[in-house]
Parts: sequence; structure tokens; C-alpha cells
Amino acid sequence: MEPICDFCSEPGVVSMYPAHNFIGYQGEGIVGESVGGWAACRTCHGLIAAGDRAGLTARSASTLLANQPEMGLTLGEAVAVLAELHAKFFAHRIGPPAAMPVPTAATASHRG
Ligand SMILES: [Zn+2]
Repeated sequence: MEPICDFCSEPGVVSMYPAHNFIGYQGEGIVGESVGGWAACRTCHGLIAAGDRAGLTARSASTLLANQPEMGLTLGEAVAVLAELHAKFFAHRIGPPAAMPVPTAATASHRG
């Protein structure tokens, strides 16, 4: 299966950001644990490298709403949830990102 970006869920992962495991969210009997590093696509990698956390959160929120409309979140709610999740991720990051294998031409064209 093609890896997808852990921030925006798009294919075309270019970097892996090592991180400690952490609890991403808790509630209603659900505990979501983030295990290991987070993969990032080229766009998210650029936002992280630029320190644009707000831009990263906004991008993730818009793709989350597009991919999972059944969650019934407003954009504001999605931004709030992801801002908290990303803050935890950045608090648990370990060192610099590792480059992922460059996608093949066939993989790169498999979009949409
Ligand atoms: Zn991404």
C-alpha cells in the first residue's frame, strides 16, 4: 500500500519525522495513540520546514473534512482538534526528518 501523509492523508510521502509514541486523543472510551514517526508529503514537509504550523493545521483540517465528512466537524472544530494533535506531535518529535524513497513515475501519476 502506498504510504500517505500523516498530516493531510495525501500520497507522495517525501519525509519521515521520527517521534516518540504519544496519546493523540482520549474520550468516549476511545484512546488514539500515535505510534512511531509521522510521514509527510512534499507540501506538509515544506510547511514544517518553514515553521508554518498554522498553515500545516489549516491544510490538514481542510483535507480531513474532505476525506471524512462523516465526522461532522466544522472547519473551526477540525482546526482546533488538529492544532492540539500537531502540538503533541511537535512536542514528541525526535531529531531531523529522514528522506523517504522518491516515488516512482507510476506512483506519482496515481492521483485522484
Ligand atoms: Zn501532507
